[in-house]
Order: sequence, then structure tokens, then C-alpha cells
Amino acid sequence: LTTTSTLDSVIEARWVIPVEPSGKVLHQHAVVIRDKHILEIIPIHEAREKYKKAPTHQLPSHALIPGLINAHGHAPMTLLRGLADDLPLMSWLNDHIWPAERRWVSEQFVRDGTTLAIAEMLLSGTTTFVDMYFYPDVVAQCAQEQKIRTQVSSPIIQFPSAWAADESEYVHKALQFNDDYRNQELIYPAFGPHAPYSVSDDALTHVATLAEEMDIPIHMHVHETAQEISDSIATFGKRPLQRLGDLGVLSPRFQAVHAVDLDENDFTLLRESGAGVVHCPKSNMKLASGFCPVDRLHKEQIRVALGTDGASSNNALNMLEEIRTAALMAKAVNRDASTLPAADALKMATLDAANILGLGDEIGSIEPGKRADLTALNFERPIRPAIYDPISHLVYSANDESVSHVWVNGQMLLENRRLTLMDLETLSKKVADWQAKIDTAHRQQQLDFEST
Ligand SMILES: [Zn+2]
Repeated sequence: LTTTSTLDSVIEARWVIPVEPSGKVLHQHAVVIRDKHILEIIPIHEAREKYKKAPTHQLPSHALIPGLINAHGHAPMTLLRGLADDLPLMSWLNDHIWPAERRWVSEQFVRDGTTLAIAEMLLSGTTTFVDMYFYPDVVAQCAQEQKIRTQVSSPIIQFPSAWAADESEYVHKALQFNDDYRNQELIYPAFGPHAPYSVSDDALTHVATLAEEMDIPIHMHVHETAQEISDSIATFGKRPLQRLGDLGVLSPRFQAVHAVDLDENDFTLLRESGAGVVHCPKSNMKLASGFCPVDRLHKEQIRVALGTDGASSNNALNMLEEIRTAALMAKAVNRDASTLPAADALKMATLDAANILGLGDEIGSIEPGKRADLTALNFERPIRPAIYDPISHLVYSANDESVSHVWVNGQMLLENRRLTLMDLETLSKKVADWQAKIDTAHRQQQLDFEST
């Protein structure tokens, strides 16, 4: 007889999809949690014998999956969602987003926007997110308050903001942030140089050296549009990835966000450096940036994660939508329905992402010893469908309304679609206040623009 630790809890599920091995589905299994970690995965009838006294969650019409990993975003931008749509990237940034950010970004903006983003992500099954935004310390505080796992990438950009005046101050603040947070639970500091076109050679070289010394990731937008590449050739005489390679920035710690436009040499640079790619299919489609060649990257053994990007270019922070869009887009681009099967698409948003983040030993699959970061989906809400393949149902049919429970580090953060730690009423009031302020100012700005 096994002694039941007081910390044990048991989750019984109709289906457990562990992701490792990929494509496997366990029927009527239980996941046992002990002290924030997954202890074992055994049939329900065995768990009922072995852990008689442990608190048990019964999920009889649910699939239990590893918590989803949103590998790229700008959480506070939830407050700018829908402010400017249907515009090309550079005019969207230059004429709308960056002016709005210059005017509004503050500690409080980042706090309220990040909390809203975390609510949306938990409600759609995300347990880890990667962020790149001003006031990374505030993003980290929000993540810790809400108990969600986060890679916080300190921004580095040539332009002044409320957070820092110039590149050296951004780097200095990134180092300070790392000192403050690198040993704190749930928070993983990284460098977030914005993009090749907005960071200097000197700053990139410095960041590459620091990231290697500190062994932390570099998270960066790269090859998002064709114009970015032609501008780089005009300015530097080479494509952005080649420039990053020459500056020593590429390594297994490098997370290349977007990677929409890749030539043969770019594939070689990514493969030989061991860098990972973060694919944001909905953002790339909405900004008409193009199509990340996921299938080719996989054939080159280059890992690819998935991200939503910010709420202004998506406009949802819903990883289920991202997984589905990635699977559909890859097929359409290849004109081959066998491209990126459902299990592979799910793996991108879980284990592949964990490995790119350097967290492959901690999260990304349901395996003994890993952190208990778990998401449950009730497939019978609102009706019971015919389900022949739960992975297919998850990827091609399920929506965020079916996400019922979420655990991070064994702590339940979503219980039957109720956020356990969050005061939604207060949050809603704050969001409404921001909307009123930003809307009034934006309308005035458009009127001023039209009258000139
Ligand atoms: Zn982005």
C-alpha cells in the first residue's frame, strides 16, 4: 500500500494526451500530482485504489493536455486591440501603434493590459507565455500574482520610450531585470531586442555576449516582411539573419519570431546555429506579411513554436486558434493535406515550444517529473459530439469555450471556466476606463490628421 502524501491530488480524465510520445492518447487515465510536479500517469481504476484519500478532479468528458505555450506576444497590447486594423505593418506601426504607445504606455497601462491578457490566455488553455514589452518588471509581477509561467523578454530598441531613453539604458535595465528575477519561480528572463531594423550592431553584439555569459534566451522579431529584408540589404549589404549570424547573435538560445521569408542560406543559418523559430500564423496573415515555411523548417530539423503575437495584430490571444490556423495554413501553402498533421501542430504549441524556451525538461508534455502545467477541455460542451480521434477534435474542432480547467505548477487557476485568482469585476472597470481614454484621444488625433 502506498502512503498518500497530503500534497497529492489526482486528475481523472476521459482522455489524456501526453504529447510525448506524439500522437498517443490514453483512455480513462489519471494524472497524479505531488508537490507541483507530475508523479505518474496510470489507469483511473488503479489510481482509485492507490490514492484513496487524495482530492480528485473527475473530468469524465474531458481531454487533458499539457498546458499550451504561447511563444510570442506583447501582453499589454490587449488595451490597444482593434484601435487600428487592416493596415500594412509599417503604417500600422508608424502611424497608429507607436504613437498610441508613446502616449499611453506606463506602469499602470502595462499592469492592466497584462492582467487582461493573462485572463484571456488562461481561459483559452495557455499556461506559459512569452512576452516582449516595456516595463518587463511589471509584466513579471502580474504573472507572479496570477501564478502563470512566463518568459519575460526585456525590450531593447533604438527608440526612446517611457521605459528607457536609449539602447544602453534598455540593456542596463535588462541586466537589472535579470538580476531581480532570474531565481524567482515562474519567471524566466530573456533579452528581447525588438527587430534587426530597430537595434544597432553594437547593441546586438553586446546582447549576444551577455546572453551567452548568462545562458538566457534572445527573443527577437526577424524576417517578418519582404521589406525588412530588402531594407537590410540596402543598409547593411546582407539579409537580417546573415547580419545576426555575423554579429554572433544566432545560437540555440535564439528565438526567431516570424521567419516568414527564408532563403537557402537562412535555412542553413538557422539549422547550424540550433536556433528555434516562433511562427505566428494569424498575425502574419492579418498584417499580410506572408507564410512561415513550417514544413520546410521541420524537414531541416529546425524546431518551430507557435505564438499569437500582440492582441493588435491577431486579435485574439487564443492558442487553440493558433494551432488550428498553423495546421490549415501549412496544408494550403504546400497544397498538400498531409502537411502538418494534428499531432504535430499540437506538439509545436507544447513540447517543441518548451524546448525552444530551454524548458524541455520542465514543461511541454505530461510525463513523470515534469511540472504539473495542465489544461482540460470539456469536449461535450455544449453537446456531445461524435469523437473518433481526440487529437483531431482538439486541433480542428474545439474552441476556447471548451477549456474548463487549467493548472500551473499543480495549482488550479481555472475551475470550470472560473478564474480562481482573478477579480474580473475590478479588471473590467479598469479596461473600460482605458478604452474611454484611448478612444477619445485617438478620434481627436484622426480629426487633427484629416484637417491638416
Ligand atoms: Zn510581435
